[in-house]
Amino acid sequence: MIYVVPNLIKEKLLKKATKLRNVKYMTLEELINKFTFSYSKKAVYYLMKKLDIKYEVALVYLESMKYLDDEKTYFDSKLKFLKKLKDELYPLLNIDKYFSNYINNKTIIFYGYSYIPKFVLSKLSSFNIETKRRKVKNFKVYEFITLEDEVAFVAGEIAKLISGGININNIKLICGEEYFFTIDKIFKFYNIPVNIPKKVPLYYTNEGKKALQNIALRKTENPKIAEILNEYYWCENLEEVKELIEYDLKHHFKEEVEYENAVSIESIENNEFNSDDYCFLLGFNEGKYPKVYYDEDYLSDKLKEKLNLETSKELNIIFKESIITSLSNINNLIISYKLESPFEKYYPSILIQELNMDVIRNIKKNYNYSHLYNKLELSRYLDDLIKYNAFHNDLVSLYSTYQNINYGIYDHKFTGIDLDDLDKRTNKKLTLSYTAIDKYYQCEFKYYLSHILKLEEKESTLSLIIGNVFHYVLSKAFLDSFDFDEVINKYLLDRSIILSPKEHFLLNNLLGELKFAIDTINKQMQHINYDKALYEEKVIVNIANGYDVTFIGVIDKILYKEIAGKVYLALIDYKTGNASPALDNILDGLNLQLPVYLFLVRNIDKFMDAEVYGFYLQPILGNAINIENKKSYEEQKHENLKLVGYSVSSIDSEGEFISLSDKSKIVKGLKEKKDGGYYSYAKVLTKEEIDKVCTIAKEKIYEAIENITKGQFRINPKVIDKENVSCKYCKFSDICYKNESDLVYLKKTKHFLGDDYEVD
Ligand code: SF4
Repeated sequence: MIYVVPNLIKEKLLKKATKLRNVKYMTLEELINKFTFSYSKKAVYYLMKKLDIKYEVALVYLESMKYLDDEKTYFDSKLKFLKKLKDELYPLLNIDKYFSNYINNKTIIFYGYSYIPKFVLSKLSSFNIETKRRKVKNFKVYEFITLEDEVAFVAGEIAKLISGGININNIKLICGEEYFFTIDKIFKFYNIPVNIPKKVPLYYTNEGKKALQNIALRKTENPKIAEILNEYYWCENLEEVKELIEYDLKHHFKEEVEYENAVSIESIENNEFNSDDYCFLLGFNEGKYPKVYYDEDYLSDKLKEKLNLETSKELNIIFKESIITSLSNINNLIISYKLESPFEKYYPSILIQELNMDVIRNIKKNYNYSHLYNKLELSRYLDDLIKYNAFHNDLVSLYSTYQNINYGIYDHKFTGIDLDDLDKRTNKKLTLSYTAIDKYYQCEFKYYLSHILKLEEKESTLSLIIGNVFHYVLSKAFLDSFDFDEVINKYLLDRSIILSPKEHFLLNNLLGELKFAIDTINKQMQHINYDKALYEEKVIVNIANGYDVTFIGVIDKILYKEIAGKVYLALIDYKTGNASPALDNILDGLNLQLPVYLFLVRNIDKFMDAEVYGFYLQPILGNAINIENKKSYEEQKHENLKLVGYSVSSIDSEGEFISLSDKSKIVKGLKEKKDGGYYSYAKVLTKEEIDKVCTIAKEKIYEAIENITKGQFRINPKVIDKENVSCKYCKFSDICYKNESDLVYLKKTKHFLGDDYEVD
């Protein structure tokens, strides 16, 4: 026995089947392919190349040529053209010559389809064909002025069903995509979970983008994408068929995560419903019920007649009949339509008149199931009254029920987050870095949007690429057998980075600066006493506080020296943009970059008790050169490459970092006086103060973790000495609606060093 059923029904039948039966399932499309042919992507590609046409056009040609009779000669130019193509394509078509024999003596059951195409019937002319149809029922249909009222009515009816004990999984919506947004919004007011098909094309997912970027590697972890790529097994270089793969990725969708128990949205075509299902058909409007076909396909009605295919006129009759049958087959059905949406006007379906349906108008609103919806309705009625002097009948009763709805007041404040939701979202795991902590202390809400809701897109800008290239090269530049060009090329190749000619030009110019920087650093190193180094040292600190927290950082360079069991070290972080090593406001959680590296280095076993000589930034790019008569351009570039940051005020002679008597040649401003002390402008800290900086970093990290896991995400951007340091480049200013009351004013301070410490 062969069941010809749509996939949706096949799944339902298989779920219901109690024992294995000798049944073969196929869809109508598969059956037509068996009578005609199916084709691989190779055939599509062949047509695209041969005729220089788009993927979609090639598909139309292939689908149209299925119905050509190989024995016939066609005189119409279009059919002649298709026939010629088909003859040419023969080796690339999959034709099942034995199918007609195979189905002989078999019972074929068509189930769930609106109609059996004439073409298929002609192939089954030797079969006895029986069709069964239900009797047409009497229908009621509900009319609503707006789409929103229609959806609210349905939500109320569903709430009633659920509170009456109906299983939510038996409740189905039949509606078009124009309803999805409003259903999503209003059903939430009623706490009714609904699985709305999101249909996100794989093309727009990170996995899709990655697969396209690395197309030559044929690598992906997504099984659906892997399946698509596998269809091109015959093609050695996938770059050649990139257009086809892009098309496929745009027409295949991401696996959706669905509620287990929820209302579902289904289609009425090619579907069947259980007798205990409750179906709500929304949008019973003209143009949709029944669907209208026009004579506008590639094969005109005239040609369709010649090929024994349904014309648009015939399809209109078939689909009208089929909709009536489908409606009659649903046991529990509520039909509704709207007259307008925010964007369009609508007319009722012509079937209402033809089937003499009872139209129910002026339906009273149901206020029994959602306080939130009721309050929103109340504010809408108040709007109408105040703005247009229009009085709604339900206004008084709603107003007396809900007297305090904060009408006309907008509160943008963050009012908290359900901690269970936070746990679910994060899976009780946090991965933090200096950047994340910095974001949190700049503005807790910014962190929330970016790291918890993950609203920030990862961008691959040229400046980011340049920063990464520079860091990578600098991590290799001081190792033996370093070859500048080889390292750059390897970096770009390994990551499949393709630059435009303009970007290439810019990068090449900047690489000149990088070479200069490497050369200068090599010269500086001749005056450094520390003989050992670690580059790009990744440090991972695991912190448990009920959450599984991983704090990660990469320290660009650790220079160190071991002598008689004692370790001395200095930290260096390369900067490709402007940077300041300031320690202002670290007690407020700001400017923690270098302190965080101190904290991280203390978490490397070898450096746990090391003496820190200093922690520095080294600007590799980004500092503007000013015209200074006293110094040449070259000298100024050298000057800009000096280390900037904090050094220890005194250390034993073994731990001395710089061999020059004038240390300011290596560290900016580190100038000694004749008495051995430093000038006041030198950035020096005592050993205890350096330890304190490290402790503050640790405390601020722990404090942030504590607050994040408590769900504390206030809108609290910081203003330091009149400058808003948080919002300047924030991408979320359209979302947060911050106002003056949110700003947190701070004084520029190095308070941690004592009250009287001056800020330089
Ligand atoms: S714009 Fe300012 S207040 Fe708004 S999220 Fe960003 S940092 Fe916070």
